Amino acid sequence: GDSDINTEVVVLGSGPGGYTAAFRAADLGKQVVLIERYSTLGGVCLNVGCIPSKALLHTAKVITEAEETSLHGVSFGKPKIDLEALRAWKANDVVGKLTAGLAQMAKQRGVTVVQGVGKFTSPHQIAVTAADGKVTTVGFQNAIIAAGSQATKFPGAPEDERIMDSTGALALADVPKRLLVIGGGIIGLEMGTVYEALGSKVSVVEFMDGLIPGADRDLIRPLQKRMEKRFERIMLSTKVANIEAKKDGIHVSFEGENAPKEIEVYDRVLVSIGRRPNGKNIGAENAGVAVDDRGFITVDKQMRTNVPHIFAIGDIVGQPMLAHKATHEAKVAAEVIAGHKVEFQAMVIPSVAYTDPEVAWAGVTETEAKAKGLEIEKASFPWAASGRALSIARSEGATKLIFDKETHRVIGAGIVGTNAGELLAEAVLAIEMGADAHDLGLTIHAHPTLSETICFAAEIKEGTITDML
Ligand code: FAD
Ligand code: NAD
Repeated sequence: GDSDINTEVVVLGSGPGGYTAAFRAADLGKQVVLIERYSTLGGVCLNVGCIPSKALLHTAKVITEAEETSLHGVSFGKPKIDLEALRAWKANDVVGKLTAGLAQMAKQRGVTVVQGVGKFTSPHQIAVTAADGKVTTVGFQNAIIAAGSQATKFPGAPEDERIMDSTGALALADVPKRLLVIGGGIIGLEMGTVYEALGSKVSVVEFMDGLIPGADRDLIRPLQKRMEKRFERIMLSTKVANIEAKKDGIHVSFEGENAPKEIEVYDRVLVSIGRRPNGKNIGAENAGVAVDDRGFITVDKQMRTNVPHIFAIGDIVGQPMLAHKATHEAKVAAEVIAGHKVEFQAMVIPSVAYTDPEVAWAGVTETEAKAKGLEIEKASFPWAASGRALSIARSEGATKLIFDKETHRVIGAGIVGTNAGELLAEAVLAIEMGADAHDLGLTIHAHPTLSETICFAAEIKEGTITDML
C-alpha cells in the first residue's frame, strides 16, 4: 500500500496487554509492528505502576518489620533513608532490567518497534508521530488496540507539582512531612503505605463509607485497623471541598460529618481517584471503532471491536484494570488473529491490594452474593489460630472461602494478611477447576504455613477441623 511500513499485525501500546499480544502474534508466525510513545516498553505496569510500586512496598515492609521487631526484643535504629539510592535501585535494578529485557525479547522475535504517538488515519493505517515530529505510517491487516489508561485528574485542582498522581508519587521527589491521599482505593493505600514507612504523616480522604469499596468489609477491617494506628487520619464519607496551592503548602478543606472543620495544610497531595481509558486519543473514529463516552472500547469474547479486523485489550476495554487481565486478553486477541478458535473465558480475575496487610479476593464476594441473592455458604479461618501467623507476629489475618450452597464448590475467596496475594492463587485454581471443600480439606498442606489456612477454612466448612494450630 501507500504506507511507510506494511505489516500483518500492528499493536498500539506496549503495556502488559500490548507487548504480550505482540509477542504471542510473532510466536504464531505473524509479522508484527509494536507502537509505543515512550522510549521504553512495558507501559504503565512496568514503568510507573505494578512493578515500581511493589519495589517501594518491599522497602516499606522491611522498614516497618524492623521497627516492629523491637516489640519482640530486637531493636534497630531509626532508618537512614538515602532517597537517591532508593530511586536508583527502583529505576535501574528493577524497572530498567525489565524494560531492557522486553526490548531484547521484541528484537529476538523480530517485532518491529516504532516509537511515537499513534493515531488511526483509516481502518487500515496508523500514523505514528515521533517526538521530533517525523511521521511514519503503518499499514496493517489486523490491529490490536492496547493503549491503556491514565490517572483521573481531581476536578478543580490547581496545576502544582506538589499535587501528584501515582506517577509523581512513584518518582519519590522527597518524603513530605504531611501527605494527603485523595481516594482510599488500591493506589492510594499502596502509595500511602510506602510514604508512611518512609516517614510521612499520611491522611486518606475517601468519599465512600469504606476503604477499597470493592472488597468485603471483613477483609478490610484488619487493614483499616492497622492503618488507623500508623496513619495520621483516615476520613471516610468525606469530600474534598477545595484545594489551593500556596507557598507554605497545599491548603485543603473538607466536607462531611467526620470532616476536619479547619483548613488543613499538606506538603504534598496524591490524587488516586481512579483511572480513565485512553480511547479518545487514538483517532479511533478514523477507523470506525466505536468508543463510549468515557473512552472505553467495547469488545466481544474474542476481543474484537465493532470493526472485525481490529481488536482491543487491557484497561481500554474496561474493568478490572489489571495487568493479568490485560495479558490474558492479549493472548486471546493474538490467537484469534492467527486463526485459532479461542475466547476470553476466565471464571475469575483475582484482585490484590499489596498493602500491609495485603487484601486479596477472587470470584463471588459476600457482598455481591447478598446483593444478588445467591445461595452461598462461607467458612472463615482466623489467623489468630494459625501457628505460622503467630510466629511471624501477624495474626490479624483471615482466610475466607465462599461455597455454592448446592454444589459445595468454591466460588469465591478472600484473604487478608501478610502474603495474601500469593496465598490467593490456590483458591483461584480451586475455583477454575471446580474444586469443593472436600478437595481442599483433603489436600495435605505443609505445616506450619499460611497456605494451610485455606485447608483449615475448607475443614471448617466440612466440620472436620480439629487442632487448628
Ligand atoms: P498500559 O499499561 O496503560 O499501556 C498502554 C501503553 O500504550 C502505554 O505505554 C502508553 O504510553 C501507550 N500508548 C497509549 N496511547 C498511545 C498512542 N496513541 N500511541 C502510542 N502509544 C500509546 N495492576 C495489577 O494487576 N497489579 C498491580 O500491582 C498494579 N499496580 C498498579 C500500580 C499503579 C501505580 C498503577 C497506576 C497501576 C497499577 N496496576 C496494577 C494497573 C496496571 O498497571 C494496568 O492494568 C496495566 O498496565 C494495563 O495494561 P495495558 O496494556 O492495558 O495498558
Ligand atoms: P480505584 O478505583 O481503585 O480507587 C479510587 C478510590 O477513590 C475509590 O475508593 C473511590 O471511591 C475514591 N474516590 C473517587 N473519587 C473521589 C473523590 N473525589 N474524593 C475522594 N475519594 C474519591 O482507583 P485507583 O486506586 O486510582 O486505581 C486505579 C486502577 O489501577 C484500579 O482500577 C486498579 O485496579 C488499578 N491498580 C491495581 C493495583 C493492584 O492490582 N494492586 C494497584 C494499583 C492500581
